[in-house]
Amino acid sequence: MPINNAQAYLLVAPSAIVMLSLALFTVWYLKRDHRYLLLLGCSLAFTGVSLGFQTLLDRSQIAIWSTVSGLGYLLGAWFGARALADKYGVPSRPRLSLAIGLTTLAILAFFSLVEEDLLLRIHALGIALGLIQVLPAPAIFKLPRKRERLEVVLYWIYVMFCIYTMLRPAIVLAMGSAELNNFVLSKFWVVTTIGSMTFCMLFTFLFLACAVQGTVSKLSDERDHDPLTELLNRRAFLEAAESLINDRRLQPISLAFGDIDHFKYINDRWGHERGDQVLKKVSLTMRSQVRHQDLVARFGGEEFVLLLVNTDVKSAEQIVDRIRELVSSSNDAMPEGQPLTISFGITAMPLGGSLSAAIDEGDKLLYQAKGAGRDRICTDPVAESVTG
Ligand code: GH3
Ligand code: MG
Ligand code: MG
Repeated sequence: MPINNAQAYLLVAPSAIVMLSLALFTVWYLKRDHRYLLLLGCSLAFTGVSLGFQTLLDRSQIAIWSTVSGLGYLLGAWFGARALADKYGVPSRPRLSLAIGLTTLAILAFFSLVEEDLLLRIHALGIALGLIQVLPAPAIFKLPRKRERLEVVLYWIYVMFCIYTMLRPAIVLAMGSAELNNFVLSKFWVVTTIGSMTFCMLFTFLFLACAVQGTVSKLSDERDHDPLTELLNRRAFLEAAESLINDRRLQPISLAFGDIDHFKYINDRWGHERGDQVLKKVSLTMRSQVRHQDLVARFGGEEFVLLLVNTDVKSAEQIVDRIRELVSSSNDAMPEGQPLTISFGITAMPLGGSLSAAIDEGDKLLYQAKGAGRDRICTDPVAESVTG
């Protein structure tokens, strides 16, 4: 079919959308991660191809093919909604989308093949696309978790996009239907193609940025945490501790060093896997007994360190003693009747003091506890008399 200049210009937008979808497919394929990139790619591909297809049709052909192009747009909206739902981990409401989609296709078929009415088709399709797109939005809005700023921006731009999709037919009404006779040259079609391209570019950028952010935060999470116990590792602990110990508002700060007693024997007697279970159990117990601002780290094999903010040595001793008791009284980590004990050294971390000096001091106290028979806590007598 011959293409006129206007059509050729208007094909720029659908072509750009299809190129964006190819970029999303490529990024997804390289890492096979972030499935929402694949879903957004599908959304853009269906939208771009449908826009391009309709741009090439004249007024009478648009009616004949309206169900086919409508199906393309509906699939585009459905994949877009799925991409968003996947990104935020909420349901995508497939049954409701299917019902809206089938009803819309029936309306499109009726008002193109039985009774030709372009305006009604535009309205029906606009509302259906907006509805399908908006389905995951309320569940995302209700999510309790605190979101990254980028995710908040993506969410609100998406909501605006849904409103735009639903309002677009109203723009047609305002312009009057006569304008639609030369469909491809109508303001409606220009708004539709340019608007779609703008939103597709925005979503591609935002979803890719979210994927990069997700990968970076996953990597830094892996870099900072011990994979077995999910506690901070030594490096991350030292980094976090350096910033906490200089904060006057967090004083007094105490450091507690724990080491599981006879852990080598546990490994040798019941196997390495049992040893790992013990490490997990002890980590969980420690985490359950501290507050959100405190730090808990696995410093080495079976050595742990706790940094307790706004806690003097005496209070730290109470917290640690609870941990020690919970560890020795739990019977789910060790074979029945077998003891699991842990020794601790506790020292104060004074404002402006040296962290490494405090670590050395805590280590000394821990080995005093070991030497005194294990399953006990040794505290810094000077610090205790000052704060206690
Ligand atoms: P003490 O009461 O004096 O602390 O004696 P211990 O046996 O607990 O201490 P020792 O330092 O002799 O043994 C620590 C053991 O911890 C040796 C090492 O094989 C084991 N270990 C280190 N990392 C892991 C781990 O990730 N998993 C398991 N299962 N064992 C580990
Ligand atoms: Mg030990
Ligand atoms: Mg040890």
